[in-house]
Amino acid sequence: MSSRRRTLLKVIVLGDSGVGKTSLMNQYVHKKFSQQYKATIGADFVTKELIIDDRHVTLQVWDTAGQERFQSLGVAFYRGADCCVLVYDVNVTRSFDNLNNWHEEFLKQANPTDPERFPFIMLGNKIDIDGGNSRVVSEKKAMEWCASKGNIPYFETSAKEDYNVDDAFVSVAKTALANE
Ligand code: GDP
Ligand code: MG
Repeated sequence: MSSRRRTLLKVIVLGDSGVGKTSLMNQYVHKKFSQQYKATIGADFVTKELIIDDRHVTLQVWDTAGQERFQSLGVAFYRGADCCVLVYDVNVTRSFDNLNNWHEEFLKQANPTDPERFPFIMLGNKIDIDGGNSRVVSEKKAMEWCASKGNIPYFETSAKEDYNVDDAFVSVAKTALANE
């Protein structure tokens, strides 16, 4: 193909503080993981180029800088989002229960034209901890929740061990493209 179409996709990552949103993005974009907890990062977003079905795609992935604790992310954060990634920690029940709030909050703030069909992706992160023995949310329970919200694709990930991170973000791009 001589001329590839270039597409910019805005992706926002939501979920409780501490679930690993920033770590997942760092692992995906920079191939780095840090144990250290950093509530803030320097930039509003990071970008990653990829090719999907011969299309040149730029994923612009927006992170929160700790504001998720107060749920005051501002309108610019949500504006024009093409995909919303919902993240919880499989070892923390509350982070799973709060997905309802994040899902609702996204639809309220971003106000997409077709809320029923808006592309979400859900990630159950930190599956590496204690070899999975400390997880409190089962894969089945997570998948039931995803089914109840219109079949949201679900991935279990470890930002620490770089498990499923690439696949999850490729799915983000594909799901967003499919909705265009
Ligand atoms: P955020 O507040 O959602 O952005 O969460 P962070 O990315 O800052 O991660 C919070 C803490 O969890 C940090 O100490 C990370 O090192 C750790 N963390 C993130 N992802 C994983 C993971 O997949 N496995 C393990 N074991 N720790 C993780
Ligand atoms: Mg963070």
